[in-house]
This record gives sequence, C-alpha cells and structure tokens, in this order.
Amino acid sequence: MKTKYLIIHCTATPEGRDVTGKEIRAWHTSPPPAGRGWKQVGYSKLIRLDGTIETLASYKNPGIIESNEVTNGVAGINSVSRHIVYAGGVDAKMNPKDTRTSAQIESLKRFVLDFVKQVPDVSVAGHNQFDNKACPSFDAGKWLREIGVPSKNIYGAKPEPELSTIVEPEHSPEVDERDPEPENVPAAIADENPDNRALFENRSPLAFFIDLFKSLFKTI
Ligand SMILES: [Zn+2]
Repeated sequence: MKTKYLIIHCTATPEGRDVTGKEIRAWHTSPPPAGRGWKQVGYSKLIRLDGTIETLASYKNPGIIESNEVTNGVAGINSVSRHIVYAGGVDAKMNPKDTRTSAQIESLKRFVLDFVKQVPDVSVAGHNQFDNKACPSFDAGKWLREIGVPSKNIYGAKPEPELSTIVEPEHSPEVDERDPEPENVPAAIADENPDNRALFENRSPLAFFIDLFKSLFKTI
C-alpha cells in the first residue's frame, strides 16, 4: 500500500532513560503478561537519547508499505502508515512531557524532512491526532511547521492558499457607484459601427427619429 501517514510516537518512558530496540521488541512481541503478544513491533524506527536512529522493522521503499513491513502503531491505519518513536515522553512521575534531547530533535527533524522529500504525498502526524492519547507529548503540527515541513505534508494543517485561489473581497457599494456602466449606449451596436453611436447619444426622441430617417434616406 502507498504510505499515507508518517506518525510520530514516544515510548512513554521517563526522561533520561534510554530505550533499546531489543526492549521495544520484547514489550510488543513477547507473549502476555510480559509483553503484548503482537506479531510485529509498533514502530519502524527508534530514536535513542543520543539521536541514533535504530531500525526496528526495516523497509525497502519509504513510500510503499509491503505487507511484511506493517508495524502496529495506530490500530486501523497501520497498513498505510510508517511509525517512528523517540525514547522518552514522560517525566519522573510519568506525566506527559516533551523530553526530546537536542540530539533526538535534530535526528527526528532530519528524518522527517528526508521522508517528506522521498514521499511527497505523505501526511505527518502525532499519534494523539488519531487516538485520545498524550503520545508523542508535544504538538506535532506546530513543531513540523517550525522545522519547515510544507503544510500539505502536515496532518490537519490548513493548506496555504495558492495565489489563484485567493478570493478578492467583495466591492463595497461606494466603489460600485463611483464607476457605473455607461447606460445610454447599447455597447454592442456602438462598437460594431461608430456612426451609430451618434444616433443613440444624448438625443431627444424626436431628434433621434429625424437622424434615423436621414441616415436611412442616405443609404437608399
Ligand atoms: Zn504512540
């Protein structure tokens, strides 16, 4: 399937605690109660505290999700989504917190910008835009805009209006009155034959018929 979404997650582990790919694999794929018993991990990539990007589930082409590359990040849209997770996301009391280290921010930024370049139709989102969760513990839309992701690639962002689609404000009545259409000359007739203009312009009805009669008489 074509990749529709790139979704950002956090591991929901306390600030400062590093997480390895091996741990995530155990949490997700070990049989309960130790793990969740999933066949596949939840994410394709993990960003460690030092910014290293670890591959949890490899893929060939970022834009095409093969059935054996599907990861379990957000139920219902996994077949069209790639998932990336950073280690962290909660404080010591397990409350949601953007705990990304500057190295993690830099790695995530480079990864997202590169992904968008490779998959120009992808929509990047935070997990909490699909589920009622705090994950990834920061406002993905706002951050994506800050790092220069085009708004067409930011899930839920309003597209920037293109010049041709900007709607002009309606004219106020004053503007319309200042520039009235000329009403005394039937434009089509006047344009076809400049001589006819004289017949219609500023004449009394009697003068009009006299002139009309004269012009008809001349042409006979
Ligand atoms: Zn998540």
